[in-house]
Amino acid sequence: MAGYDFDLITLGAGSGGVRLSRLAAQLGARVAVVEESRVGGTCVMRGCVPKKLLVYGAHFAEDLTDALGFGWTVGEVSFDWARLIAAKNAELNRLEAVYNRILRDNGVTLLEGRGVVVDPHTVEVAGERHTAQRIVVATGGRPSLPEIPGIQYAITSNEALDLMQLPGRMVIVGGGYIAVEFAGIFNALGVKVTQVLRGDTVLRGFDQDVRAALSEEMVKKGIDLRCETVVKSIEKTKAGYSLRLSGDETLDADLVMYATGRRPNTDGLGLEAAGVPLNEDGAVVVDEFSATAVPSIFAIGDVTDRMNLTPVALAEARALVNTLFLDKPTTMDYTGVPTAVFSMPPVGTVGLTEAQARTAHGCAFDVYLSRFKPMRNTLAGRDERTMMKLIVDRATDQVLGLHVVGADAAEMVQGFAVAMKCGVTKAQLDATIGIHPTAAEELVTMREKRPDPSPECQE
Ligand code: NDP
Repeated sequence: MAGYDFDLITLGAGSGGVRLSRLAAQLGARVAVVEESRVGGTCVMRGCVPKKLLVYGAHFAEDLTDALGFGWTVGEVSFDWARLIAAKNAELNRLEAVYNRILRDNGVTLLEGRGVVVDPHTVEVAGERHTAQRIVVATGGRPSLPEIPGIQYAITSNEALDLMQLPGRMVIVGGGYIAVEFAGIFNALGVKVTQVLRGDTVLRGFDQDVRAALSEEMVKKGIDLRCETVVKSIEKTKAGYSLRLSGDETLDADLVMYATGRRPNTDGLGLEAAGVPLNEDGAVVVDEFSATAVPSIFAIGDVTDRMNLTPVALAEARALVNTLFLDKPTTMDYTGVPTAVFSMPPVGTVGLTEAQARTAHGCAFDVYLSRFKPMRNTLAGRDERTMMKLIVDRATDQVLGLHVVGADAAEMVQGFAVAMKCGVTKAQLDATIGIHPTAAEELVTMREKRPDPSPECQE
């Protein structure tokens, strides 16, 4: 639009910001994206991608042991953390170049530096002002740590991905996605991991059976889970760190990592001064079209703290492009979003938890639950069990929730999420022929309902 330097300025070149900028530019919009760190954002540079690479790397520890059961004699093995980190960094550099190329090839201007919103149509970057018809905030989030004495000694997932060397003993504080994923990685690589969490078990908000199954497997693998425990303070000692825990226990460690949630990146962005309200956690308040109270300013992704997952930010970006550049107002559908936790073993889940089903459907649903040793673990001699659970609406026979804890859970659940999106019923799962022998076939062969344990739901 004449009069402005750009049609769109996107703040943040993470997953959501890059997707939005690229799609808008492909539709002919003049677009600039502002980035103060590396193009790619949290997921590619400091989250999903490097984490998953480390999960792959760490998993070989188990695979090498399991090989014995299949007739292999594995000679002296050794692991070089520095080599894994170097390989991971090389891959991140490659991806960063890919992302830069995507922007360049689509004619998106990259403005390097920190962007500050000066007014509803102006962004300042490195002392220069740029105007745009629309501004989209896609600045993501960052680790949030509680203010306790000694917290400055703690690292976050950002630093954990780039450690110079592996510690001997590590404490990981938190019980969410990031905490369990890093506990799995470091434990598999031989670090003595203690995970301290304030909840009764890991992954609050997930299905109870998922939480129980995962914590059981984590403990079996050697992770010391300290539930209902709070860290009061961290002290530096000669040998490392000493943590004072609730109950006046102490815990010594060589490294302390906090994974106690993330905060939206809105500090000093100038949003409030420009008239954009933030909520009490600092998230940009948006409506279902990702619009803020200021007609020219929008926000997508983690900075809005709606559903903090990369594929959701990508979908929000596409919906916003439809709304802004295709004259097709589009809202984002947050139902049936599958998610995975790349713990060891991993978790894959879609739909309602049993507790959510109870709230929404009272007693009118059935639960099918299976726990078994997957075939691979028989010869491997590995005592790791898979858990699968289906929650089915008794009135409609529709599958309301599907949960897997076990090898390849994420790969399995992606496909079942499609079926759930199509409203799959239990009868349709039953009518589907399994692929034998797989673990996934269990999801189409579960026949026995679990008796409802709630007294008010007993027939
Ligand atoms: P989560 O919100 O998942 O978990 C935070 C954890 O920290 C919870 O166990 C919480 O306890 C605990 N906690 C919060 N505040 C305190 C405190 N003051 N003292 C002690 N414990 C505290 O955050 P994460 O940092 O693990 O991950 C952030 C988000 O990133 C996730 O919610 C997810 O959306 C996304 N993510 C997704 C991944 C994936 O898809 N695989 C991987 C990694 C991250 P309590 O439960 O009691 O509140």
